[in-house]
Amino acid sequence: MKLSVVVPCFNEEAVIDQFDATTRSVLDSLAIEYEICYVDDGSCDGTLAKLRALARKAPAATRYVSFSRNFGKEAGMIAGLREATGDAVVIMDADLQHPPKLIKKMLDLYELGHDQIIARRSRTGDKKVRSTLSHLYYYAVNRWIDVELADGAGDFRMLSRPAVDALLSLGEYNRFSKGLFSWIGFDTVTFDYQNARREAGETKWKFGSLLNYGMDGLISFNNRPLRIAIWGGLSLVAVGAAYALWIIVQAVTNGISTPGYVTLVAIIVALGGVQMVMLGLIGEYVGRIYYETKRRPHFLVKEAHRCSGNPERVDRRDGRGADRHDRVI
Ligand code: UDP
Ligand code: MG
Repeated sequence: MKLSVVVPCFNEEAVIDQFDATTRSVLDSLAIEYEICYVDDGSCDGTLAKLRALARKAPAATRYVSFSRNFGKEAGMIAGLREATGDAVVIMDADLQHPPKLIKKMLDLYELGHDQIIARRSRTGDKKVRSTLSHLYYYAVNRWIDVELADGAGDFRMLSRPAVDALLSLGEYNRFSKGLFSWIGFDTVTFDYQNARREAGETKWKFGSLLNYGMDGLISFNNRPLRIAIWGGLSLVAVGAAYALWIIVQAVTNGISTPGYVTLVAIIVALGGVQMVMLGLIGEYVGRIYYETKRRPHFLVKEAHRCSGNPERVDRRDGRGADRHDRVI
């Protein structure tokens, strides 16, 4: 069998050599055919130069594609999965937070016939606030959405060829891969590993992007929030009607008293807020439809090395020449 390792890299100059050496030593020890598919996600440091050097060193067992700009890790993963030619594919981070030695364990499970082998990281060592927030988030999200998301089960997994093909057949533009992995199903098995620290470089996640990612998780896989909006709206109408009735009864029985100005303002502001939230929610869905209808590619490639054996580069452009048509994938 042949194993492909897919590695999205964004500004990983500091760690990529170490990653390559460690992973290759593990793969060599397995005595199987393998390839490492790097995806340079528009890095602005020396990542691409390092990838070129790695491809020159082991041309038959290394592939890379380099994006024309940063398209995000999701795009990096699809590009890698498309490049991969193996019977099984492992998706890994370049920062060695996904220990390469676990590939052996994954392979053993793969040989038992599983299609998705998920390495779930434990949260020990994480900041307390972040792990509590994550627990709460997953608890909430799993009650709402249609697919099951597991805390700590990220992109570090091995997929069989049928599972990879299934993922690639999902052509949507807005990709929430945690949900997609779960959506495709197949025979899935999970094991835990101890979370490791990033070896070098720094994380690309900021708190804001985590919040946005969380929102994607809530919205990508169902339209239940829209339902909640409708029920919330109807409940407010009912409460409003009951309140109006109560005022009328009061006025008839006790006469008209001085109107509560503060109450009125508070209610108007609160309702205004609710409406804004609902509009934003609808906007989220409409925005997604907007991007889907454009049918833009997930990424553009500016340079690639795909051959086996021969270290010649494909699609290389010098950036100045007359033929600067980006190849659309
Ligand atoms: N990554 C990427 N494109 C991006 C951001 C990140 O390809 O826009 C890659 C990054 O190089 C790394 C992996 O995704 O290999 C995970 O990123 P990071 O370590 O920053 O995330 P964390 O481990 O902190 O969740
Ligand atoms: Mg990391």
